[in-house]
This record gives sequence, structure tokens and C-alpha cells, in this order.
Amino acid sequence: MRDPQDASPAWYCSKCGAEQYETDPIILEDGRRMCANCFQDRVKELLRVSPAIVADCLGMRYEEAI
Ligand SMILES: [Zn+2]
Repeated sequence: MRDPQDASPAWYCSKCGAEQYETDPIILEDGRRMCANCFQDRVKELLRVSPAIVADCLGMRYEEAI
């Protein structure tokens, strides 16, 4: 088990500033790195405001009654 006090962070999330380590996933947006938590928040937000875009990314079709 790694001790967070010993390991120095590999990078910081550009959104929340959280310390990230080499084993953490990196999500790039316009060249800026965000952490998995911020990515999840982003996806949830996107799902809420533009579900059609998310469906499109998944190869699904999202139809809305007008
Ligand atoms: Zn973050």
C-alpha cells in the first residue's frame, strides 16, 4: 500500500486541483488534464444537459418528442 504522505503527486487536476498519481487515469480536454472525478462530473452534467450527445458517443440514438 502506498503512503500518500510519501508519494509525491505526478500531476494536479486542472479543474479541482486534486493531487494525482502515476496510477491514476488522465482525461485530457484541450490539452488540460482532469481527474476521474471531474470527468465523471462532466459526463453527468453532459448527460443532464445534452443526453443526445452522450447517446451519439455510445452509438445510440436519442429521440425527443418536440
Ligand atoms: Zn479533478
